[in-house]
Amino acid sequence: MKNSTRKIKVSILPESSKAETAIYIHIPFCDHKCVYCDFYSIIKDDKAQNYFDALRVEIEHYAKTYSGNRDIHTIFFGGGTPSLVDEKQIKFVLDVLSANFNLLPSAEITLEANPGTLTPRKLQAYLSYGINRLSLGVQSFDENDLKFMTRIHTADIARSTIRLAKDEGFSNINLDLIFNLPGQNKTKWLYNLESAAELPVTHISAYSLMLEKGTILNKMVLDGKVAISDADYDADLYELTIEFLNSRGFHQYEVSNFAKEGFDCRHNKFYWDYKDYIGFGTSAHSFVNGTRWWNYNSLTFYLNSVFEKQHARTGEETMSPEEMINEYTMLALRSSGLKIKEFTDRFGIEWLERNEKLIRELLENEFMVRSKSTLKMAPKGYAVCDEILSRFN
Ligand code: SF4
Repeated sequence: MKNSTRKIKVSILPESSKAETAIYIHIPFCDHKCVYCDFYSIIKDDKAQNYFDALRVEIEHYAKTYSGNRDIHTIFFGGGTPSLVDEKQIKFVLDVLSANFNLLPSAEITLEANPGTLTPRKLQAYLSYGINRLSLGVQSFDENDLKFMTRIHTADIARSTIRLAKDEGFSNINLDLIFNLPGQNKTKWLYNLESAAELPVTHISAYSLMLEKGTILNKMVLDGKVAISDADYDADLYELTIEFLNSRGFHQYEVSNFAKEGFDCRHNKFYWDYKDYIGFGTSAHSFVNGTRWWNYNSLTFYLNSVFEKQHARTGEETMSPEEMINEYTMLALRSSGLKIKEFTDRFGIEWLERNEKLIRELLENEFMVRSKSTLKMAPKGYAVCDEILSRFN
């Protein structure tokens, strides 16, 4: 979206209200590096406890500034593979958080896990700590895909892990899938979607394979060892995904996310609804009152910085009003839509007036829908979301 120099009314929050805040904890340890992965992760070793000591220092440091007048609505343990570390280390972090922040009793607490790393004892421990949502990195139910991606699990292990989690008491389970893998025809992708929908999951995230610089997969493609299908084929698989998951009762509430009624991921909605979040750990990002900052994505730098300065912030930016509007509208339109009253209370009416003609055209051509007070993408619009967003100014 283009920038403009017009004056815009921006209010962050009414003075009297408690800021709704999400917390992200990055656990960077993995069993090995998957070929396509560009998240910050390292192979787990015996020094992991240092990391948790540093997390405590960092949490206590930011709590001095941010714990007052804030309610914590969600916590998300991401990675890396949080389920790989000793469950007591997860409890340690939750104890430090609850001693320093006001965690709401109704908070959504998610832990990312890899199939094959969970046991009944671990699952029971998580439940007893208040973790109420699991997100499982399944990626595919095809053995060849899993081998290609160098995942540690098989399709059967993924199935049995999800059933085990359900039997042990988890009623809110997400499963991640990746589409447009090399050699993945429509039949194979449909098989993956069917396999996912048959399991006791409440949420499915379906991402197109991204080639990221610095990954082994990117080098394989550059060396001509692997071919990735083009954007048109990717769009076909994506349309198939939307159609199939809608037909199985998973409504789309963001470009890549589908949920059963009542199971939208509350944590992710904090990012998309432009609410405050504080991230702790290597490579974690935070966004508070229009300022974004991020941590070192190196364990050594992170540990040195935290033990010296109590934080590991390596960069920050404060958004201009126009940048905030652009980002807010982009995030809202990629997810559950622009809530018009909330938007105009916060930013004024000018952006809507400026884009009125385009919005009318998108509504008439059924790329967008307007329901009650919300303006959002129609399924047809999600499929070409990036193209549509580039037309707003
Ligand atoms: S398990 Fe996840 S975070 Fe770890 S290397 Fe594989 S894709 Fe990356």
